[in-house]
Amino acid sequence: MFKHGVSYDDVLLVPKYSDIKSRGEIDLSVDLGSDLKLSLPVFSSPMDTVSEHEMCIAMDSCGGAGIVHRYNSIEEQSAIISKAAKNINNNIGAAIGITGDYLERASEAYNQGANFICIDVAHGHHSSMKIALKRLRMMLGDDYHIMAGNVATLQGATDLADWGADSARCNIGGGSICSTRIQTGHGMPGLQTILECAKTDRDIAIIADGGIRNSGDIVKALAAGADAVMCGSLLAGTTESPGEVFKGKDGFVWKTYRGMASKEAQIDWKGKYSSFEGVSSRVPVRGSVKDTLFDLEKGVRSGLSYSGARSIKHFHSVAEFMMQTSAGATESGTHISNRKW
Ligand code: IMP
Repeated sequence: MFKHGVSYDDVLLVPKYSDIKSRGEIDLSVDLGSDLKLSLPVFSSPMDTVSEHEMCIAMDSCGGAGIVHRYNSIEEQSAIISKAAKNINNNIGAAIGITGDYLERASEAYNQGANFICIDVAHGHHSSMKIALKRLRMMLGDDYHIMAGNVATLQGATDLADWGADSARCNIGGGSICSTRIQTGHGMPGLQTILECAKTDRDIAIIADGGIRNSGDIVKALAAGADAVMCGSLLAGTTESPGEVFKGKDGFVWKTYRGMASKEAQIDWKGKYSSFEGVSSRVPVRGSVKDTLFDLEKGVRSGLSYSGARSIKHFHSVAEFMMQTSAGATESGTHISNRKW
């Protein structure tokens, strides 16, 4: 009756024989289908405290991709895309919904130079998603990359593929600012979601979205079968995220980071709130996207080398997980400050 699910801290990867002499030998590039290729498998979340034009330019220049959020008018979103698109070498995405003016928004994003769209809804395994994907496919053609989500199950990822998506954002309720599981009792532990969704036999790329706290989590997500990850909190404190830097009463310097279903975000973009499934918080300022991704990339390369994997595809076939106990999880963090001398 009860299914069991693991999250990132429940597991470790078993170190394997390696003949990799330098981390530079590892190829982190991914082909997500329909002409969306990344040399670093990281997306920035389509959120108003994460991704506007500066984030998209920085993500693209580091080999990842930014997705312009949809919590604005079509005119505002297309102005951001066109300002960005001028400085983009490879990829820039645009988020849309599945009701109201979403077809017009998608068409405008396409015209302004977005080379992929992301259908961005909380519960993507839904009849309205099926209709939206069908219409968007007819409008944008077979070769244009459409990302859709979020889903949390094998059936969800498989249905998105059958309805026309090229990639699936996977994870429900696992984001750092998310309160979906508290409000609704629904969701799946983040890593289990990826393990389940990646079992699909359909041709759909799996994006591990939400709950990624460090390079170790990225490595575990890729090991579980993800082709790329999506990050919000890890990028919200960078120089390129929208929003003002402010000094807290604690003397530290912060930036606001909020869930798009938080009361605060809903009031700002539609003047009122209904059901809320997120919180508004803050993250420490952490420097540029380039420096942040540099550190993450080094950790991910090191991670693959511990499994002897030369590419993400290779990693999918050799990675082996082991459950760890709570004592193991304590040992896995730096723990000198807990020691009784
Ligand atoms: P983080 O990287 O753990 O901070 O999670 C970011 C992800 O949380 C996003 O990419 C979305 O999938 C998800 N998300 C954004 N806003 C909300 C919200 O208000 N409620 C629930 N999930 C959210």
